[in-house]
Amino acid sequence: MAYLEDRIKKLQKLLKKLDLDGMLVYQGFNMDYLTGFTGGTGDGIVVVGPESAQLITDARYEDEYREALPENVSFAVTRDYFGQAVDTVQKMGVKKLGFEADMPYNVFEYFDENLPGDVSFDAVPEAIEALREAKDDLEIKALKAATAASVKAFNDLLKFIKPGQTELEVANELDRLQKHYGGSKPSFDTIVASGARAALPHGSATDKVLEPGDLVTIDFGYYLDGYTSDITRTIAIGEIDPELKKIYEIVKQANIDAIDIIKPGISTDEIDRVARDYITEHGYGEQYKHSTGHGVGLNIHEGPVLRSSAGDEVQVGNLLTIEPGIYLAGKGGVRIEDDILVTPEGHENLTAGITKDLVVIPA
Ligand code: ZN
Ligand code: ZN
Repeated sequence: MAYLEDRIKKLQKLLKKLDLDGMLVYQGFNMDYLTGFTGGTGDGIVVVGPESAQLITDARYEDEYREALPENVSFAVTRDYFGQAVDTVQKMGVKKLGFEADMPYNVFEYFDENLPGDVSFDAVPEAIEALREAKDDLEIKALKAATAASVKAFNDLLKFIKPGQTELEVANELDRLQKHYGGSKPSFDTIVASGARAALPHGSATDKVLEPGDLVTIDFGYYLDGYTSDITRTIAIGEIDPELKKIYEIVKQANIDAIDIIKPGISTDEIDRVARDYITEHGYGEQYKHSTGHGVGLNIHEGPVLRSSAGDEVQVGNLLTIEPGIYLAGKGGVRIEDDILVTPEGHENLTAGITKDLVVIPA
């Protein structure tokens, strides 16, 4: 529980720096991060004041959370979340209240109209999201468990895949295996994209049959203990076109080179540049259409983003995906994605348990 208490204290410190003395937290992942409440967006609200915080939710959650909250979080049970929040803001003596910049308009409107006139109400972009970028030990433990389960599942899947199966059959089996290893639910629909469809960076699984000569891109993420993995591998069914073999090796080297330089203090655009330059030097820069990676945690896509225009400093506790890709329209594509934990010494690849060499399923 000390972890949650610390997160609230960190937010209070950050608010002080921003000249605020309180904040309304409506977004589900942010409420979870601060209080452990997993009800989700719309099922409650958290008021953070200068000394303490309050979780406001309804009776459905009472038994689960009354005893489970951190020391510095009080509990209010009511269906009138917002009315209670206005009350709490006043009781806590908050005068400069912040809110998440992506707060829905109807929620904003309620508070804008109902807060007392002497309380200022300002959007705070990315405050809790920024705190969430550097994972604490409790989060790292969950992320290691989530990635380990997905790694085991994928290695089992490699023994299952045969030509003639549909993309959906493969996706369903991978989901089943991840559940078998303790996963709770997918963080996005498992992507299995084969043949020409592998040129679509995010083609979800269909009833297309895996055929000899196909590259198959499999991108998957599963929750365990509230945190998600995010992994991609591309495999071959039988003999593939020499150009596809060539782009596989280019993407693999770009992935390895980008991971190699990860350590605290390096900038996020530098990591993107290493992968992008390697692919561009080998003639496929135009076919690399997305950023090199992103943070992962409670949510599948978090900060920081690894793109050329970024420029954030990598910090200890970041969990970064490295996922370069090349996509040849009408022919196929390759993406290789690993989950990298930034450590004081450099980094640790949490998905190193899956080979990066091209796996060929006999046709
Ligand atoms: Zn992914
Ligand atoms: Zn990703």
